[in-house]
Amino acid sequence: MNLCTFNGSQASPLRHLADNRGVTPDPEAPSEAPVCSSRGCRNTATWMLLWRNPRIHGTDRVKRWAACDEHEPTLREFLTARGFPCQTERVG
Ligand SMILES: [Zn+2]
Repeated sequence: MNLCTFNGSQASPLRHLADNRGVTPDPEAPSEAPVCSSRGCRNTATWMLLWRNPRIHGTDRVKRWAACDEHEPTLREFLTARGFPCQTERVG
């Protein structure tokens, strides 16, 4: 069971993300390159955001969001605005 909601937030810019990548294969997506996590965006991700919610995640529980160049700042802002520790990694 995957719960991907933020406490008290109905304004997530993200489409549903499963914890285990690959459990919901998208036939239109390339099999290798991750697709940006921003809602409606089909760009190939060039960044991976590693983050966690300290209120619900332990220090060993890191979530990963893929992001394209355009949305990496948006997604990072979304996380940092909520005080979530967040790191970015270049992918591809
Ligand atoms: Zn994007």
